[in-house]
This record gives sequence, structure tokens and C-alpha cells, in this order.
Amino acid sequence: MTIPGTDTREPAIVVTDLTRRYGTLLALDQVSFTVEVGQIVALLGPNGAGKTTAVEILEGYRPRDGGQVSVLGFDPADGGRPFRERIGIVLQTAGFEEEFTVGELLRLQVSLYPRRYDPDELAELVGLADRRRTRVKALSGGQRRRLDLALGLAGRPDLLFLDEPTTGFDPAARHHAWDLIDRLRGLGTTILLTTHYIEEAERLADRVAVLRSGRLIAWGRPSELEARCGLPSRLSFRLPAGFTVDLLPPLSGTRDGDGAEVVVHTHQALADTRLLTDWAAANHLDLPTLTLTPPGLEDAYLSLTGEPADDHR
Ligand code: ATP
Repeated sequence: MTIPGTDTREPAIVVTDLTRRYGTLLALDQVSFTVEVGQIVALLGPNGAGKTTAVEILEGYRPRDGGQVSVLGFDPADGGRPFRERIGIVLQTAGFEEEFTVGELLRLQVSLYPRRYDPDELAELVGLADRRRTRVKALSGGQRRRLDLALGLAGRPDLLFLDEPTTGFDPAARHHAWDLIDRLRGLGTTILLTTHYIEEAERLADRVAVLRSGRLIAWGRPSELEARCGLPSRLSFRLPAGFTVDLLPPLSGTRDGDGAEVVVHTHQALADTRLLTDWAAANHLDLPTLTLTPPGLEDAYLSLTGEPADDHR
């Protein structure tokens, strides 16, 4: 017999046919996926897709109606304290004791765990070292989110759940948070994050799960999802003065706009780019804004969630 959570070779999360109903609503419909140790997985999906329901079941805070769930070798429904000590949870809105200082809160939080961080090291890790004597009520919104993150990390979790980790961050704070998540990746922490911010998933995630109406409609590396959708690349440029679109060579892609700013959606990016640059050279033209953009995760996500789920199962 294996003691839960002691087999380091087993995946961090195994979900098989997970089902959850609210009355007649099927909030999760036979969802299955596996997260390996050390992976960062982004759970994406429109509002009401079932993300919170799935995550709360994995955290052990919501019961399921069907299927099997193993998290760090535990069934989260009855993992108890040994399970809780190994996971960290960072919610979007945690309530803080406003009169406490950052240092006091961190000391209090780490004292709850056997494998605790040193509170100063923790403050350093999330970029709050210079705020240790600051009362929580005097923190900015972004600093509070960093404190949220520090509290979630207090027990050196093997698995961290992050709910919309950078919502409300300014761009610099967002990049700081992403760097921090990269550092956690370096420490071997498995992370399951929910986000509506696709660039965040593209930047951080090893694997992406897309839920829609309770069904897992896509799972894979961001690049796999992008490739699977077979979306066109975007070739954009500004026509030189005196030229109109009808003077362009016969490009294979479909064109947006008849004005000076031209966007061509093409599945033959190289051939169309060549046609265009040969045409420009023959006419002694420069196309300084010529840009070729491959389809990204956001395009794939919109394509996946905008079509009937059955088409992608
Ligand atoms: P969001 O992006 O808006 O946070 P979500 O993907 O997290 O959405 P869930 O909160 O898991 O979605 O909700 C999935 C579905 O289950 C929704 O239709 C929601 O209305 C419903 N639901 C969630 N919690 C309950 C509940 N306690 N009772 C009844 N229905 C619920």
C-alpha cells in the first residue's frame, strides 16, 4: 500500500470523468485530465464554464457527483490535514486583518505549517521585503495581491492553486508576478491557475485546459492548441501613397479592408509574403510596416469556445 502523497513518480493531479450537477445543470460533464508534477496548467473558459467548480473540487472544498479525483495522491474529499498542508490556495479576494503588519501576518501564516517558509524569505520572494512593517490597510491593491500570494506559499506547497493571479495588476506588477511564478516553477511547484487573461496562459502554462459548458473541449500545450485550430496567419502592411488594393498581386489569403491599411489572413504565409515582397521590389516600393503574425493562443481560444463544443471532442 502507498501512503497518499509519498509516491513522487505519480502525477500531481489525475481527474477521471469528473461530474458535478447543480440541480438540473451539469456544471462538469465527465472531465478528465492529468497534471504531471512540476507542470503549470492554465484552466481557461468563458464565464460559467465550470472552472471554479472544478478547482474547488480539487481543493476539497466542493463535493463531486461522479468520477475519480486524485490530488497529490489524496482524494481531496477526505484528504484532511495532511492534504491541506501540501497545497496552497491563492484566491482572488482574501480577507485580511487590516491592522496587522505584513510581517505579522506572514509570521502567523507560516506558523500553521510544518514545512514553513522563513517569513523574511517569503516577503523577499514576493517583493514585499520593504513592506514588512507596513499595516495591511496601507498596502496598494497590487501589494495586497502579492501578500495573497505569499500567504498561499507559506507552507511551501507542492501544488499551488492560483485564481486569476494578476487581475488588477499594472503591467510592471504583472510581469513581476509572472517572474515569481517562473521562480516557483524552478522550485518544482506544480501550479493550476485559472485566468481570463490569455496572454498570461500563453506566457506561463505548460498545458492549457479549455472548459466550455462543463466539458473539457481542449487540452494540450499552447502550441498544440494553436496548431490544432488550423487558423490563418495575419499579414499586415500599409499601402504606399498612390497604390490601391486592386494593384496588389493575387494573394491566396482573404483580405480585410480596402483602404491603405491591409490585413491578409493566409494559410500560405510564406508564399504570400514572397509574392508581396517581389511585387514591392518590382515596383521599387518599401513596405516598412509589413508584419507577419502567426495565430496565437487567443485566436485558438476564441475559435474553440466560439464553436459547438462537440466539434472539438
Ligand atoms: P467564472 O469565469 O464566471 O468564474 P466558472 O467557469 O468559474 O465561471 P462556475 O462558477 O464553476 O464557472 O459555474 C459553473 C456553472 O455552475 C454556472 O452555470 C454557475 O451558474 C453554476 N453554479 C456554480 N455554483 C453554483 C451553486 N452553488 N449552485 C447552483 N449553480 C451553481
